[in-house]
Amino acid sequence: MIHKNFKNIEKVVFGRGSFDNLTEILAAHRNQNGKFFLFVVDNFFKGKELENRLPALPEDVVRFIDPDPHEPTTEQIDSLRDEILNTRGLPAGVIGIGGGTLMDIAKAISLMFTNEGSSTLYQGLNLIKKPGIYHLGIPTISGTGAEVSMTAVLTGPEKKLGLKCEWTVFNQVILDSELIASVPVDKWFYTGMDTYIHCIESMNGMLNNAYSLAYAEQALTLCRDIYLGNKAGQTAENDDKLMVASMMGGLSLTYSEVGVCHALSYGLSKILGEKHCYANCIAFQHLGDYYADGVKEFGQMLVKHNVVLPQNLSRNWSDEQVTAMAQVAWNLTHMWNHAIGPDWQEKMTLEDIKALFRRM
Ligand code: NAD
Ligand code: ZN
Repeated sequence: MIHKNFKNIEKVVFGRGSFDNLTEILAAHRNQNGKFFLFVVDNFFKGKELENRLPALPEDVVRFIDPDPHEPTTEQIDSLRDEILNTRGLPAGVIGIGGGTLMDIAKAISLMFTNEGSSTLYQGLNLIKKPGIYHLGIPTISGTGAEVSMTAVLTGPEKKLGLKCEWTVFNQVILDSELIASVPVDKWFYTGMDTYIHCIESMNGMLNNAYSLAYAEQALTLCRDIYLGNKAGQTAENDDKLMVASMMGGLSLTYSEVGVCHALSYGLSKILGEKHCYANCIAFQHLGDYYADGVKEFGQMLVKHNVVLPQNLSRNWSDEQVTAMAQVAWNLTHMWNHAIGPDWQEKMTLEDIKALFRRM
């Protein structure tokens, strides 16, 4: 059996206020290439206190990006890359500040600065040819694990698939839980549930192992404190825990795999444009057949935080849309292999997957 051999983030700073270490960290890398940095920052921070704390010098490029209209696209990455290369040349590095969207934009553009052509050429495993430039991530909403993962998920004209390789992983991450305090409660819930679902899926499948399980169990303990414990809610202490849980959930699935919920969620995102974490929640509530205990506990978390998920959405979906979503899900063979087994195609048909979508 061939075992996974994964690269972790090179350096991590953890702690409240650690954002201010950025100045010193960047100083050591500024002398590379065109000697300027590209900052890609979640538009939420435009005009906020954090904008004034950015250690950007006059030669640096600061780009505020709105993560909301859509998940990162190949076109968006290619055009930003072309624009920066044509006007300024190759940066010393890229700093991503924001949620999973900005983490993925920073990771993807770091790679695309040095790999020619469109990012659509590199959607998949180990298709990238050269290492990217130095890249540093600062998450401001926790749950996706994008800060630690070896993929930068992009939506292209044909597929929603990551640029996945060792060079995708950040050189440096700064985990400053003060930055997630302003996350609105609904997003705090959905994004945190991504971590929860990562752990449940990672530990319920063929690739589960002692290494991935240790991360999953610890991240689940943290999620239970944050979302179900006596002191549940958005507190400073829980924000610390959530940042760590997000990272551990990401590490757990890196050493194992996600499963049925993520396969369906990709279908929802690709065809209907639903955001990853919300799409997971929409799907997960109906997956008691696969993850009985997890779905039950998820239900308790929904109740505790008064979150009401939409029901009967599929009534408004055409058969064409359901088929397209099921096809996206079906193609994620690595997830089904993990969740159901290498003989999953003998146990599942496209119609079965369509039926899962019709539960939503
Ligand atoms: P996001 O980056 O889309 O942001 C969600 C919302 O939260 C946005 O409105 C944003 O402006 C807001 N926000 C962020 N930080 C905030 C703060 N501190 N205060 C107030 N508002 C804040 O959310 P996400 O759920 O973290 O990321 C979703 C993306 O991550 C998707 O594109 C998905 O494909 C990707 N993803 C990647 C991986 C990976 O391993 N690379 C894994 C899962 C998901
Ligand atoms: Zn996820």
